[in-house]
Amino acid sequence: MIAPTKIKSTLKEYFGYDAFRPLQETIINSIFDGKDNLVIMPTGGGKSICFQLPAILLDGITIVISPLIALMKDQVDGLTTNGISAAYINSSQSEPEQQEIYAKIAAGEIKLLYTAPESLSYLEHVFNSQTISLIAIDEAHCISSWGHDFRPAYTNLGYLKNRFPNIPIIALTATADKATREDIANQLNIPNATQHIASFDRKNLELEVRPANDRVKQIISFIDEQPNESGIIYCLSRKATEAVADKLKAASINAKAYHAGISHDKRSQIQEDFINDKCQVICATIAFGMGIDKSNVRWVIHYNLPKNIEGYYQEIGRAGRDGLPSNTILFHSYSDVIQLQKFAQNSGNVEVQLAKLDRMKEYADALSCRRKILLSYFGELISEDCGNCDVCKNPPQFFDGTIIAQKALSTVARLDGQEPIGVVIDVLRGAQNSAILEKGYENVKTFGIANDISWLDWKQYVTQLVNLGYVEIAFHQNNKLKLTEFAKDVLFNGKKVALANLVEAAATIEEEKAK
Ligand code: ADP
Ligand code: ZN
Repeated sequence: MIAPTKIKSTLKEYFGYDAFRPLQETIINSIFDGKDNLVIMPTGGGKSICFQLPAILLDGITIVISPLIALMKDQVDGLTTNGISAAYINSSQSEPEQQEIYAKIAAGEIKLLYTAPESLSYLEHVFNSQTISLIAIDEAHCISSWGHDFRPAYTNLGYLKNRFPNIPIIALTATADKATREDIANQLNIPNATQHIASFDRKNLELEVRPANDRVKQIISFIDEQPNESGIIYCLSRKATEAVADKLKAASINAKAYHAGISHDKRSQIQEDFINDKCQVICATIAFGMGIDKSNVRWVIHYNLPKNIEGYYQEIGRAGRDGLPSNTILFHSYSDVIQLQKFAQNSGNVEVQLAKLDRMKEYADALSCRRKILLSYFGELISEDCGNCDVCKNPPQFFDGTIIAQKALSTVARLDGQEPIGVVIDVLRGAQNSAILEKGYENVKTFGIANDISWLDWKQYVTQLVNLGYVEIAFHQNNKLKLTEFAKDVLFNGKKVALANLVEAAATIEEEKAK
C-alpha cells in the first residue's frame, strides 16, 4: 500500500506538478492494487505519468514497450533530466552500448526500460534475473487489426501475461473504438483489465465539413484570413502533397510538402522549420504528425477524406494543443470515397476497413452535431449539441422523430443486435424477401410497422440514430447493429429524439453509389 501523500509528493518531486490530470491518480492507484489497466486517453492527456510514477515507487524495473524507436530516446532523455533512471534497448544500438545498459540494470540502477516489441527477446536474461514491477504497453492499438495502425510485432505481446501472471500490465492508447478496446484486452490476455477512458472532447476545435469544390482556392482564402497562423493540410497521396504545396507557394504562401518519400534528413528539417515557425503550412500525408510537439497549430485541413474516424480524429487533434480556438476543415468528395473503397478492397480486413470508411462518410454527410458523432464513435455520449461545428452553427430543420426512433430501436432490440442495418430496415418495412422469411422475421413484432418510409430514408434515419449514439455498428461482427446504453432512455424513459429532415443531396450520393 502506498500512501496518497507519497504519490502526490512524487508527482511534485519528479515531474514538478501539483495536481493530477483527470484519471491519472485512479489509474496509478489501480496499478498499486496490482490490477491490469487499459487506458484510452487523447494525445497530450498525460498517459506517460500513469506508468512512470508507479515505476519510480515500485520495487524493480518497469518494462515499457513502444513501437517508435525514434521517440524512445526523447522519452528516456526527458526522464533522465527529471532525475529518473531510464534506458532503452533497441536494434539501433551497438553491442557495447547494450552491454553498458545491461550492466546498469544488473546494478539495480534502472527503473524504466523502454524497448520495441521486436527487441523483447533480447531481454530474456533481464526477465530471469531482475524483479519486474510493471509492464507498460504504449500505442496499444497497434496490436489490433481492428485498429488503424496494426503492427504484426505487437501480436506476440500476449505472451507477457503468461510469462508474468502476477505483474500488472498497463496498456495505453490515444485511439481505440469499443471493438478495438476489447480486442486489445483479449489479445494481451488481460480481458478483465479495468478500462479508463478519458474524455476525448476537444471543445476548442471547430469542426467543419465542406464540399470539395475549388479546394485550393478555398484554402488560399482561408489562409489569407489568418496569414500568421500555421496549419497542416493532410492529403491522400504524396503527389497531392506536392501539388497542393506548389499551388500555395505560387500564391506566396510559405508551404512545404512532407511525405515518406522525402529523405529522412530533409523531413527532419521540415519538421523543425514548422515547429520553429519558419514554415507556415505543411502539406502532408498521414506520415506527418506522430510525435510532433507544436502547441500552436491553429488549423488542420483534410484535403481528402480520411479513411476512418480514428485517423481523422488524431489528425485534427494536432490543432490547438494550447487550448486556444482552432479550425478544422474536411473537404468531402465522392471521388475520394471511391478511391478509398479501392484501397480498402486491397487491404487486409476488407470488411472492417469498408465499414470504417462508411462511418467516415456518414460523418461527412451528417445532419447532426459532428462532435456528438465523433465522441459517440469513441464511446463517449454527450447530451448537448456542441455549438462549435458547422451543423450546430447552421442546423438543418429538425422534427420530432421519437416514434421513428422507437420503431427502429425496438426492432434492433427484437433482432437481438444480431442483424446489420439492411435487415433491420427490411423488417421495419415488412420486406418479404427470402433472407427475412428464412429467419422467420415476419413474426417479429415490429415487422412491417413502418413501410410508409422508403428504404433510403430509413437508411438515413438509422444512420442519424447511429450518429446520435443510440445504436452502434459492431464492425467486427459483420456490422450488426446494437443498442447502446443511451437507447434505453428512448425505449423506456420517454426521451424525445430530434431527427433532421432529409435532404436531397444525401439521397443523391446514395443513388450515385448504387450505380
Ligand atoms: P500523452 O502520452 O498522453 O500524449 P504525455 O504523457 O506526453 O501525454 O503528457 C502530455 C504533457 O502533459 C506533457 O508535457 C506532460 O508533462 C504534461 N502533464 C502530464 N501530467 C500532468 C499533470 N498532472 N499536470 C500538468 N501537466 C501534466
Ligand atoms: Zn456540434
